[in-house]
Amino acid sequence: MQFLIYPRTVSGRDDPGLKKAMGRYLDITDNRKFSKYLIAKTIPVEIPKSEEKLWEVHDSKMKEFRRGLKDFDKGRGKLEFAETSLIDLKLEIAKRMLRKCEFCERKCAVDRTSGKRGFCGLDSKSYLSSEFIHTGEERSIIPSHTFFFIGCNFYCVYCQNWTISRQKEKGMEVDGETLAELARRREHSSRNINLVGGDPTPNLHTILEMLKYLDINKPIVWNSNMYLSKKSMKLLEGVIDVYLADFKYGNDECAKKLSKVPNYWKTITRNYSLAFKQAEILIRHLVLPNHLECCTSRIFEWIGKNLNNKIRLNIMDQYHPEFEVFTFEGMDRRVNQEEMGRAFELSKENGLTNLEP
Ligand code: SF4
Repeated sequence: MQFLIYPRTVSGRDDPGLKKAMGRYLDITDNRKFSKYLIAKTIPVEIPKSEEKLWEVHDSKMKEFRRGLKDFDKGRGKLEFAETSLIDLKLEIAKRMLRKCEFCERKCAVDRTSGKRGFCGLDSKSYLSSEFIHTGEERSIIPSHTFFFIGCNFYCVYCQNWTISRQKEKGMEVDGETLAELARRREHSSRNINLVGGDPTPNLHTILEMLKYLDINKPIVWNSNMYLSKKSMKLLEGVIDVYLADFKYGNDECAKKLSKVPNYWKTITRNYSLAFKQAEILIRHLVLPNHLECCTSRIFEWIGKNLNNKIRLNIMDQYHPEFEVFTFEGMDRRVNQEEMGRAFELSKENGLTNLEP
C-alpha cells in the first residue's frame, strides 16, 4: 500500500497578507463561498444564432453575473443551474473563435477546426501531458490538482517544461467531459483546480467545456503567461477565481529575444489590469540573471503603481539554464545571492510587501 504525505500546507486564515489578496479563494476552499463558474451556471441564457449578437448577449449577461456574484457572496444566492447558462454561451463563443483563432494576442487567425495550427502548434484538440496532485506549488495553493496541457503560445529559450510546451510528448487527447471526470476523481485530495501547460490559453475551449460538465465547488486557478487576447480575458471573467500569473519581462526587447513574443508589455499590463478587476491574483516573477534593472525593477514598479499591495507576489529564484538558453549571453547560470537580494529590495522600494513565504 502506498501513502502520500503532503508537505505542510497553510489554511491561510493565519496569514493576513493571504487573506487580503486571496480572501475569496480561502472562502471557497472552506466552502463558505461558491466558485465563480458555479454562479455563472445559474445565469440562464438563450444562445443567439447570429454571430454578432453573441457578444452583445454575453456582455449583458455578465452584468447579471456581477450582480448575482454580490448576492451569492452575501449568502443570498440559490445554486440552481440553468438548462443553458452563461458557461454554454462562453463555450459557444470560444468554439467560434477557434475558426479564426485569436485566443491569444498572437491572433494567428488560422481555422483550427480544419486541422490548421498556429504558433502554439495545436489544432482544435487538447492534450494532457499529466494531471496529478501537485505539492510543489506555493504553500497557499497546495495540494493542487494540476492539469498540464501540451502546447504553448510562447517560445521561451530557457523553458523549464520544454517537453510539454514544445510538444515533444504526445500527451493524452482530452475533451471537456474527460477533464471534468478527472477533476471529480480528485475532488477530495486538492484545494483547487490548476490549469497550466505549456499554457492553458490555447485550450480555452476545452477548459470551458470541462466547466460545463463540472459541478464541484473548487477555486479555478488560471496558471498562465497572461498573453491572452482581450476577448479571451472577457470569456474568463466569471470563470476564473485566481490568476496564478507569470510576469516575466519589463520590456518588449527581452520578451522578443527570450520568448519570441511580440508586443509583450502593452498586452500583459492590459491583461493584469483586467485580471485585477475580475479575480484575485498571485503573481510569480522568476528572477533572471542579468535582468534585474531591465525586467524585475520595471515589473515591480508597474505592479506597485497599478495593482498595489493587494496582490500576492512570489519572487522566485529557481531559474536554471535549460533547453536552448546556453547560447544566450549571461543566461547560462543561476541567479546569485546579490541578485536575489536586489530583487527583494526592489519589491520593498515599490511597496510590495505581500510576499509568498
Ligand atoms: S492560441 Fe494563440 S498561438 Fe495558438 S493558434 Fe490561437 S492565436 Fe495562435
